Amino acid sequence: MSGASIIDGKAFAEGLRARVARQVAVLNQKHGLTPGLTVMLVGEDPASQVYVRSKGKQTVEAGMKSDEIRLPADTSHDTVLAKVKALNRNPSVHGILVQLPLPRQVDSTAILNAIEPAKDVDGFHVINAGRLATGQDALVPCTPLGCLLMLKDRLGDLAGAEAVVVGRSNIVGKPMAQLLIKESCTVTVAHSRTRDLPAVCRRADILIAAVGKAEMIKGDWVRPGATVIDVGINRVERDGKARLVGDVDFAGAAKVAGAITPVPGGVGPMTIACLLVNTVTAACRQAGVPVPEV
Ligand code: NDP
Repeated sequence: MSGASIIDGKAFAEGLRARVARQVAVLNQKHGLTPGLTVMLVGEDPASQVYVRSKGKQTVEAGMKSDEIRLPADTSHDTVLAKVKALNRNPSVHGILVQLPLPRQVDSTAILNAIEPAKDVDGFHVINAGRLATGQDALVPCTPLGCLLMLKDRLGDLAGAEAVVVGRSNIVGKPMAQLLIKESCTVTVAHSRTRDLPAVCRRADILIAAVGKAEMIKGDWVRPGATVIDVGINRVERDGKARLVGDVDFAGAAKVAGAITPVPGGVGPMTIACLLVNTVTAACRQAGVPVPEV
């Protein structure tokens, strides 16, 4: 069925985590530095609980310090803010991640912007978004960073490639577009108001789908030989069973694309691996030691 090669995000993420663990061991030995990540979870959202558990486990496996702050769903905005400010002041905390979504009474934008930018390992603070947009050193959102690492591993130099990013959210689409501009791609950002989306997608050497609509992007929207990165995670029911599918019709697109990420097992595992990378970067910058290459 498949003409495309499959980009194995699970294996790539495993390799990346192993490289991070080696760097952490060196930082420990040479500089006495143990990067520390604190994740804050407000409420009992089941998906968030799974993510937070995985983040904690993988942080510890990489040799870093992991802490969790769990607060009840009815915690006030001011209490969450006070916790963030305390973490900002704590020198053993190099990375702070506030798990989204936050309950309605908590102003997410204000909380994300209260995190010290140097500790903002999710890269969502407006200062980090601005630094990325202006080509300065930034902490970059983990999911688009993972997509970029897989693209560079697969394609090498991306300069001059036609890239189409479908989706313009602050956490995926926009930072993805900024990263591709930095790599000298010619970037089109498409969204719900884009006219003739199939034709726009067919221009892409690199097609990134970050929409949140199950299997919306069809095989005949894909340019032959294109590299397709499917960020979408959609829970659907097929033949009475719950399944995860991406934003791309995998079976159709795999017949046409040169390479494609599956869902699950593509972009997903890269997100936490890149969180570990960002935590190491943040710790090194705060300690004034050189940031190791991944
Ligand atoms: P958002 O809902 O914030 O953004 C979706 C974007 O898709 C919007 O820009 C929207 O356009 C656009 N869009 C919606 N419908 C259409 C349409 N019919 N045609 C074209 N564009 C459309 O989602 P996120 O960016 O947060 O997430 C996108 C997907 O990625 C989700 O499935 C999410 O679960 C997944 N995800 C996966 C992660 C991972 O680790 N693998 C991490 C983060 C997200 P407009 O702006 O005009 O409304």
